[in-house]
Order: sequence, then C-alpha cells, then structure tokens
Amino acid sequence: MTSTDLRPRSAGGAPPIRLAARLSGIRGSAIRDLLTLTARDDVLSLAGGLPAADLMPRERIAEAAERALASPTAVQYSETAGLGRLREVVAAHETGRTGRPVGPADVVVTSGSQQALDLLARALLDPGDPVAVEDPVYVGALQVLQAAGADVHPVPLDGEGMRVDVLAARLAAGFRPRLVHTVSSFHNPRGVTLGQERRRDLAGLAERYGFLVVEDDPYGLLAFDGDPPRPVAAHGDHVVRLGSASKVLAPSLRVGWLVAPPVLAAAVERLKQSTDLCGSSLTQMITAELLADEEWFAGHVVGVRRENRGRAAALTAAVDAEFGPAVTRSTPSGGMFCWLEFADGTDTAALLPRALEQGVGFVPGGAFSVDAPVDGGALRSAARLCFATYPPDLLREAVRRLARASRRPDS
Ligand code: PMP
Repeated sequence: MTSTDLRPRSAGGAPPIRLAARLSGIRGSAIRDLLTLTARDDVLSLAGGLPAADLMPRERIAEAAERALASPTAVQYSETAGLGRLREVVAAHETGRTGRPVGPADVVVTSGSQQALDLLARALLDPGDPVAVEDPVYVGALQVLQAAGADVHPVPLDGEGMRVDVLAARLAAGFRPRLVHTVSSFHNPRGVTLGQERRRDLAGLAERYGFLVVEDDPYGLLAFDGDPPRPVAAHGDHVVRLGSASKVLAPSLRVGWLVAPPVLAAAVERLKQSTDLCGSSLTQMITAELLADEEWFAGHVVGVRRENRGRAAALTAAVDAEFGPAVTRSTPSGGMFCWLEFADGTDTAALLPRALEQGVGFVPGGAFSVDAPVDGGALRSAARLCFATYPPDLLREAVRRLARASRRPDS
C-alpha cells in the first residue's frame, strides 16, 4: 500500500479495505460466535469448552503472584522461548508423561497451546501442503491449518479415536501428509480416547512415511479414573506434543507449550519473536511455581478429576432421564465433553435457537465438520455438551431446558 492509500478520504467515505486472500480460506469459529449468544445471563451455556471457574485455584494463584511480584523479573520482558524455570518444570513433567528424555531446549512456552499450534503450522507448512485431521475436528486446529493454506484431509473417528487403519490405507495408496493432528485423549468434541495400539501404530506410520504427529493434549491429565493415557509421543520420535495449563490450572494464565526437536523448537521461537516478542513473565512464574509443587498439583488435579466425574455423571443421567432412547450419548471417561446424537434425525442447528429461547446453549455437531456442508452432513443430528462448566444442579436444569426445546415443534 502506498502512502497515498493511507490519506483520509473526504467525499465517498473510507476507502475499501482489501483483506489478504488467506482469510477467505478460514472458516469462522461457530463456537466463538455462539459464545457471544450464550453469554446472556439467563442462558446456561454448555457450548463453550469452559473449565469450571469454581475449581480454579485462585488463592494459590494469588499467593504465587505475590511471591513472583517481589522480583522485578515478574514485570519485565522475558525470553521468547519462555522462562528458563518454566521450561525446566515442563520438561520434567513431559519426561514423566512420555517416559522419554525431554530437555528445556525442546520446550517453547506459548500463549496457550493454541499459539503453539499456530506457530508450528507456520513453521512447517507451505500453502497447499497436505495435512490430516480427525473428523469431527477440533475447530481451533482447523482454523490454524486453513490459515496456513494447508490442504486439509479428514480422517474418521470411532469409539477408539482416529481410524488409524483408514489413515494407513491412504498412506499406502500414496497420500503424503506433512503432519497429522490428533486430540489423542478425551477428544474435543467427541470425548473419545485413541487406543494404545492405535497410538503405537500412528507413531510407527509417522516414522515410516516421514510425517509429524501433532499430539494436542490439553485433557490427558483429566482422566476420571486411573492413570492418564500414555501419550502417542511415548511410542516414537516423530511426535510434537502440545500441552496447556488452561484445563488444569486456569485458561487466563495463557500458558501452553510445545515439545519438539530443538531444530523445530528454534524455528517456532523465531516466528514467536515476530508475533509477540515474549509471553507474560508473571503468569509463567506463577505456572512454574504451581506445576513444580508436585504434591499440591497432584492433589489439585485429583480434585478436578473427581468433580468433573460427578458433573459428567449428573449430565448423562439427566440426558437419559429426559430423552431416553431418543438420544444416544457418549459415556465420558475424562476431559470435558459429552456427545449426543438424536435418533430421529433432529437438525441440531435448527434446534439451537429454540434451545436458546429456553435458556440453554450447546454446539451443533455440524460446527465440527471438516468440510462444513451447509446441512451439517453426517453430524447434523449431533450436539456437543460441556459438562465441566457448571455444578450438577445447573447441569440437570440445562438438560431439562434442552428437552423442552426439543419437544417444541419448529415455529
Ligand atoms: N487444543 C484443544 C483440543 C482444545 O480443546 C483447546 C481449547 N479449547 C486448545 C487446544 C487450546 O487451549 P489453550 O490455548 O487455552 O491452551
């Protein structure tokens, strides 16, 4: 644009603003749009993936903030790749999760794991590069990959996560993705977890065909029972892990991270310099303190898991009581989401305005479709409900409202 273009125009109003072509390839997030609608006080929103604010350790965060603020470091710019102390703590934590040695040089701390995914896509992908994602897809990943100009190929999911056999058949037939994105544990939106054998197979395929698996894992620690699932990264080297403090501490810290081989971590760091120079020293210091206090952190996570399990049980019992066989639902075993399918073919996008009238929000299944057919395609009769945001009584009330809305004929 020349300086002439920037001069204010008097007659005829403002000059038209021409946006970059890359924007036309990015679908808006129906979920973000919905959050605006469901933000009304009278709406119980099961739409957003909002962890329970009442379970977030606000007092512990305040104590850590006070300690951090005693040092000038807390109010200063910091290293682009993240504070050294936090990278050490994350590296130790990831070594424990994956059983493979992770060092601070493998870690880049980002503004939530969403930024890690964006930087990673920009570091790895040229326009037109093929990538694979799960279908239904985590919409935040779809947006990032579309913004990078990737050629996005959906791979179906079933009750055990990504159909790695379908991916393997396509690879054998010549498909050569640069990366494969998976929400391996307690999938957003489907709630399913990739089986261990499939994890091994996926890591093996990555090595054989030379692509990277991006293991997007903000929910792995939130297994209701037993140990968190063993990461895909435990099975091979061609896996980049994305982690986050959002669901286990608080999203407003905006602390996430990526674990990648040092060459890739350095490339991401270079891109991050131009994006935001660095993250917040203050929230990184708080996060480092809380994650490093292993006994406290373990107890805190147990509490969140227990409460989430109770909330999921309340939601699913209410769905069964209100809908009976009219709705098939998933049985959550961790994470934050329950997936419903209406047996009579209800168009959930059409149900949503009636649900909002009754005071409840959810996300229609079509919002998670990779190809976004106008009619919602195979996901047309599905809905994602978040069970983490509210305590059981409010969840029951939300489901009663949803049932009322679904009994109302279209007006
Ligand atoms: N990945 C998945 C699968 C998610 O569901 C989310 C949040 N909804 C994120 C990444 C991003 O989370 P954050 O940026 O807060 O770490």
